[in-house]
Amino acid sequence: MWACDSALTTEIVNSYQVVGSLFVQTLQNLLAAQCALSGDHLWPADATEAVIKDPNYDFIVVGAGSAGAVVANRLSEISHWKVLLVEAGGNPNLATEIPQLFYNNIDTSVDWGYKNQPQESICRGYKEKRCSWPRGKTLGGSSSVNGMFYVRGNKLDYNEWAAKGNYGWSYDEVLEYFKKSENFSDPLTEETKMYHNKGGYLNVQKPGPAHAFEEIIIKAVTELGVKELDDVNGPTQMGITRAYTTIKDGKRHSTAKAFLNVIKNRKNLHVVKNGIGPKKHLKHLNIEVKADLPVGENLQDHVFFPIYYSAPVQGSFNTLPDITKSFTEYILTNKGILSDTSPHKIIAFVNSSDPVATSPEVQFHYVVFPPHLANLLDLHAKHGLNNDIHRKFEELNENNIVIMIYNVLLKPKSTGRLILNSTNPYDHPLIFANYFQEPEDLKVLIRNAKEFILTLNDTKTFKDAGFKLTWLELEACKDLNKNTDEFLECVARELTFSLYHPCCTAKMGPSGDKTAVVDPQLRVHKTQGLRVIDASIMPSVVRGNTNAPSIMIGEKGANMIKQFYL
Ligand SMILES: Cc1cc2nc3c(=O)[nH]c(=O)nc-3n(C[C@H](O)[C@H](O)[C@H](O)COP(=O)(O)OP(=O)(O)OC[C@H]3O[C@@H](n4cnc5c(N)ncnc54)[C@H](O)[C@@H]3O)c2cc1C
Repeated sequence: MWACDSALTTEIVNSYQVVGSLFVQTLQNLLAAQCALSGDHLWPADATEAVIKDPNYDFIVVGAGSAGAVVANRLSEISHWKVLLVEAGGNPNLATEIPQLFYNNIDTSVDWGYKNQPQESICRGYKEKRCSWPRGKTLGGSSSVNGMFYVRGNKLDYNEWAAKGNYGWSYDEVLEYFKKSENFSDPLTEETKMYHNKGGYLNVQKPGPAHAFEEIIIKAVTELGVKELDDVNGPTQMGITRAYTTIKDGKRHSTAKAFLNVIKNRKNLHVVKNGIGPKKHLKHLNIEVKADLPVGENLQDHVFFPIYYSAPVQGSFNTLPDITKSFTEYILTNKGILSDTSPHKIIAFVNSSDPVATSPEVQFHYVVFPPHLANLLDLHAKHGLNNDIHRKFEELNENNIVIMIYNVLLKPKSTGRLILNSTNPYDHPLIFANYFQEPEDLKVLIRNAKEFILTLNDTKTFKDAGFKLTWLELEACKDLNKNTDEFLECVARELTFSLYHPCCTAKMGPSGDKTAVVDPQLRVHKTQGLRVIDASIMPSVVRGNTNAPSIMIGEKGANMIKQFYL
């Protein structure tokens, strides 16, 4: 990055000497601050030349994502092991590091930019009827582009994995690996130390003071009987909270920052960026079968459809002066609105089929759009929604604050599949999401939406604040009665979204399990010397966001390798 090139910086600063010392000092401060925030000097250097000279390694880790960065760090702790980490993307950049801008990384060079295959009854409101499946393509992988929510899921998720023969993966057994990574931002108490830890690589930050919009949302949702919680990773997950985040000192704490930046000079770890692949293309899909395994099956994801509330508001928001002011404050101090993900921090876990359930059916995210947010973030365009829907949302957001509530299905019955498109490793795979293929999935979403989202319209808090349930006029749904399940189903099929949690396509299971790809030690069945350690090994998706579980899988996987070889 040029801001970190001292010769160039001096030349630029010198060229402004005539302007006045205060200006020059401000310029110097801005350049130094930008350099501290983002620049190639923060990351391990590319080691391609060293690899060509001596390509012998004890371990090769492919992909420096949430799990891969952890594995590379932990394996290279053993100083006599030589470790190669191969990453298809480059270094994180300025935009990845600024928490408030997290959605802006979608559809840029740090996103693989996958889209699922058009399917009859889902993603109908998108261009080409294809939903957007962003994935991080940079050091840190998806942890460098994600929303930074730190959520572990439900205890039952892991106990279910263990009950299917995956010994060692029960909640009590994985908890120590969640804690191993963690550096909890607050002092530990008798209660919090059961679930949290200090001294790990990954910063887990408790939220600061609530934003005014967040207070309104929490007050309204608790009117519906949902309990307010301090921590969904503690004794219970059931309730509404302002989530903990992977942020440190106002900057994203991706696994690249947490696990690689700090060991960038470790001699026995070589990092190669920009990927690997065969030099010549093979005959179309004529690939030799090494092991007949169901890789790509059992695809699970958290699908959602949004419901909007809006309240009229006067005044200008997100104008150029507003953005310039926030940006300058951020660059110079790492503070202010850009240093955090508020007001979008609220999540809730509920179960409308059982008021005393200890595991949720759905998760809600509450994303707040002050007027003209598109000047900072154009979520609908980023995801590829069609022009008509995009325009209708922009019109609504012109003079209204909009709350977009994500109604997320946590335990889908429908499963999809991934298959290769060709033998060219640069071609995207074909993704068949199969959302809502099992009718029960939509029923669960609709039932919970009716109990916990539509009813917000009648709360005193929302009425007092002027928030009203607001439907975008969708062409396909316009003739349906808005008070029917049929209408909600239509909205779900038009405005289908992925919550970016695809997983489970290299399912973990014991040797008798014909649907499994890896064993509970994460070794690929029917092969030798090959393990998969990432979100794909989950036998079933956890009831929560998947970054913390992927990091836990990295910690546990690396530990199993150490136990095996040492
Ligand atoms: C936009 C977005 C928002 C999200 N928000 C949240 C959130 O707020 N909280 C949360 O818990 N979860 C969130 N998630 C999900 C979470 O980040 C992922 O589940 C998790 O990061 C997956 O970890 P992983 O290690 O399996 O894969 P990744 O982190 O995606 O890592 C895979 C890595 O492998 C690299 N790679 C791929 N192919 C090759 C190749 N051939 N050669 C070399 N390298 C290769 C990729 O470039 C990438 O760096 C979000 C995800 C996205 C995309």
